[in-house]
Amino acid sequence: MPEYEAIIGLETHIQLNTKTKIFCACKADSWNDPPNTNICPVCTGLPGVLPVLNQLVVDKAALLALAMHAEVQPLSYFDRKNYFYPDLPKGYQISQFDMPLARGGYLTLPMPGGGFRQVTIHKLHIEEDAGKTVNHDGQRLIDFNRCGVPLVEMVTGPDLRSPEEAAQYLMRLRQLLRWLGISEADMEKGHLRADANVSIRPIGADYFNPKTEIKNVNSIVSLREAITAEIERQIKQVESGVQIEAWTLDWDDNAGVLRKMRSKETEADYRYFREPDLLPIRVDEARREKILAELPELPLKRKARFMDQYGLPDYDADILTNERSLSDYFEAAVAYYGADPKRVSNWVMNDVLRMINERNIRVDELQLTPEFLAEIIKLVDASTINTSTGKSLLEKVENTGKSPAALVESEGLARVSDEDAIREIILEIIKNNPDQVATYKGGKTTIIGWFVGQAMKQSRGKADPQVTRTMLEELLAQ
Ligand code: ZN
Ligand code: MN
Repeated sequence: MPEYEAIIGLETHIQLNTKTKIFCACKADSWNDPPNTNICPVCTGLPGVLPVLNQLVVDKAALLALAMHAEVQPLSYFDRKNYFYPDLPKGYQISQFDMPLARGGYLTLPMPGGGFRQVTIHKLHIEEDAGKTVNHDGQRLIDFNRCGVPLVEMVTGPDLRSPEEAAQYLMRLRQLLRWLGISEADMEKGHLRADANVSIRPIGADYFNPKTEIKNVNSIVSLREAITAEIERQIKQVESGVQIEAWTLDWDDNAGVLRKMRSKETEADYRYFREPDLLPIRVDEARREKILAELPELPLKRKARFMDQYGLPDYDADILTNERSLSDYFEAAVAYYGADPKRVSNWVMNDVLRMINERNIRVDELQLTPEFLAEIIKLVDASTINTSTGKSLLEKVENTGKSPAALVESEGLARVSDEDAIREIILEIIKNNPDQVATYKGGKTTIIGWFVGQAMKQSRGKADPQVTRTMLEELLAQ
């Protein structure tokens, strides 16, 4: 019995985060708006109107192309993709066909166990979104808000070999989109959609079998599940001697099953032709340079630099470069701290990230600035406050927006290392707890932990635990 491998390619649609739509002045993001409120004669395709290209769409798409190592074309064209569907009021979608905005390119995927794979894309093009049909009380209703929302479409080569790799690709793409600041890439809101082309072949074969296309996958978890289910289905079919047909399959997220939608269209079905109402897109050298200047250091590069420059372990560097704002935060804190970057990394990964998760806020919303964080670590280093006070100081700074130094001063948080003050507290405890003192003197010396705890409590956490313990041993021995 042959063993099979999966051949997977992903077709992604990315919603760019422009304020307005691609060919009109309607608001692009309708997530919180009632149906059919962000529409106009242009995006609903009324007769006699003309589209006007939003140039920001080109700039953002070209930035993505450059980050994907693709060749931005000096000249590209819009085409009409004709098909009939209720949510497409014009009867065609304005897209790009044979002269797309960019060609070639790849996304680098880290492989488990080290190494990288370059997942290729053949082209990257821009197009408008269609509306959506909604089931409501047994009726099919149409919401045109999404019509004309700017999209980038990218199709990978057949380079992915498992559901897990497909999931990884989508995660890295999402990271890149947010990193570049060109899309929120929120799959639940449809900002990032993926269709998967799946086929199987015996391991070692170099030909391709007919593939099926899975549509309507709206989370990374579902993508993994849907591809897994489809690979299993295809293997069963082939093993029982049935030919795989090029179907389009619909992923039903609630039921967790695939359903056949239709036999797959071919390109000829769309009768593409040039869009006569729009000029070609021109990206000359000057414009390309200007966009290139916006290209930040990319996540994997930055991760490698964090390991190299700051001596961080792989694990830390990976988490810290998950989001660009977090990387910026970390580097700023290191600069203010001026010493051991690993120490800063520990505080960011353990405490700052926990705070962000608990409070459900973004890095750039923190009142605890990188400068304040560095200041708190320095206060702990200088033994002005102990570590646990340092951790609660983080929360206080975040709650009030006041500087750590000001809070230490106004709340009297500085550690009590003054021996006289600690001695007084201890003598008081010894006087008030004769039973525990007797227990200690009777040989059960482990009870000293209880005394230390009492002293910490009475000093409101400010007594130095080491000094307290030594002094307790001394005084209890008397
Ligand atoms: Zn409009
Ligand atoms: Mn498309």
